[in-house]
Amino acid sequence: MIPGLMQPVPLQIIDILRYAARAHGSREVVSRLIDEPIWRYDYAGLAARAAQAAHMLRALGVGSGDRVTSLGWNTHRHLELFYAAPGLGAVLHTANPRLFDEQVAYTINHAESSVLLFDRNLLALVERIAPTLETVKTFVMMSDAERHDAGSVSALCYETLLAAQPDAIDWPTLNENAGAFLCYTSGTTGDPKGVLYSHRAVVLHAMAGGLASAFGFTPFDVVMPCSSLYHATAWGLPFAAPLCGAKMVLPGDKMDGASLHELIEAEGVTFTGGVPTIWTMYLTWLDAQGRTPGALKRVVIGGSAVPRAMAETFKRRYDVDVLQIWGMTETCPIGVVATPTPALAAQGEEALREAIWTRQGRLQFGIELRTVDDDGEDAPRDGETPGALLVRGPWTLERYYRHPQSAVDDDGWFDTGDVATLDELGFMRITDRKKDVIKSGGEWISSIDLENAASACPGVKIAAVVGIVHPKWEERPLLVIEAHDGANVTREQVLAHLTPLVAKWWLPDDVVFAAVPLTATGKIDKKVLRASFGDHYTKAPAQAV
Ligand code: ADP
Repeated sequence: MIPGLMQPVPLQIIDILRYAARAHGSREVVSRLIDEPIWRYDYAGLAARAAQAAHMLRALGVGSGDRVTSLGWNTHRHLELFYAAPGLGAVLHTANPRLFDEQVAYTINHAESSVLLFDRNLLALVERIAPTLETVKTFVMMSDAERHDAGSVSALCYETLLAAQPDAIDWPTLNENAGAFLCYTSGTTGDPKGVLYSHRAVVLHAMAGGLASAFGFTPFDVVMPCSSLYHATAWGLPFAAPLCGAKMVLPGDKMDGASLHELIEAEGVTFTGGVPTIWTMYLTWLDAQGRTPGALKRVVIGGSAVPRAMAETFKRRYDVDVLQIWGMTETCPIGVVATPTPALAAQGEEALREAIWTRQGRLQFGIELRTVDDDGEDAPRDGETPGALLVRGPWTLERYYRHPQSAVDDDGWFDTGDVATLDELGFMRITDRKKDVIKSGGEWISSIDLENAASACPGVKIAAVVGIVHPKWEERPLLVIEAHDGANVTREQVLAHLTPLVAKWWLPDDVVFAAVPLTATGKIDKKVLRASFGDHYTKAPAQAV
């Protein structure tokens, strides 16, 4: 090898903010807070307060490699920690307040955090778990002094601590492979597992996220992340937006239609993103109010499959493009993004829409995809044959935090637990999670395809499909429908809607109407549904009276 002669400058997260403060210093950052007025500053202001936050963390004894936990919503204070903690060489563990108390405490103990910073309306949660926290020495409430409440944990006040600190700092030079963010999977099976993102992974992921083949931000964009900052760093938007000079709008913890619309309209939001349930609420609100979504041009949706009807409504009714993404905590999280290509465009507008509305996304530089059959042989890339989805690349995990064994095979492939098809244009379509596939009479039925078809039925708010033990067919699909408020949708209507859309043997044997439970990351909680309806096809029919 002949060594390259370029500068071996490490990729550091803080350099994204340093760049934004210099190149786009007056571009705004706007944040809704829990019960304080809307906060407004710019990237120069964010850089100054991130420096203050870093001094504050140092004063609380946080040093290189130490873990600190945030328990907060999408606010500017949380964003400041996104730069301050990794900037110092510490690791920010972004705990998920929607997990069960025991799981929140488990992740903080597992991370061995010394400081816990939390939003004011999470004080009760913090007080409940405090007795079980083994390593936290200091609690900080992310609040102004006026509304501060030390609670039973003697919390310090974020704004008071910050005010005492200088607004400039000499950020240390770090190893780009140092840990920066510790994000836990939501632990739907077993304890949550920690994924420790490195500076290098986060920076490369942010650069890739900004590309035109992914989110394609420009300094004229106004980006509002509605995916949670605590869930896989809000899909990297807090890094990709400043890296491209886009204005950032943070919606706090208010994701209802009216609150989102207020910001979308007042701040000129052009790009937003979040899980499908948020957009179901928003579309329902727009429809009920007869409003249109201002300057909004694109919505990135992922975390679970985007119902085709949702993408279609956004486009046809409001001329907003939906970009579906697929990813997971283990991939930082962007895996694929559904963006158009010339090869598709050449097939005409309808073919293009069809492809990007019905597939999870297209191959992106930086993450390789492969599907394999039960014997580990590559499945054909024909867009039809499903296989276990494996991924590999510089922002895919190698090993879970504090797990001794590797999480990947000898060639670095990580098994995602998803089942997918790949096609020759590089599009990937998830057909199911391995554990959710429905096995009926030896054949597979895709719960995602059924849900997608059912959710387009008028009156349906959420459609969930689970495989339920069946005396004859091993498993058969059961469709659980949560209807929109006031909608009068019936079993017969739903089945009549599905009949022309799916193979006859895929039709669910029954439809039940119930509230659909969601997990802490906004996915349909199929474990709960299976527990509730597990004997639906085997129980004795109710006796007539
Ligand atoms: P958790 O911690 O709940 O596992 P993740 O966000 O890491 O949370 O979940 C990743 C999983 O979410 C993927 O493996 C996949 O099953 C599902 N998922 C994410 N995006 C999509 C999508 N666009 N369509 C279908 N499933 C998706």
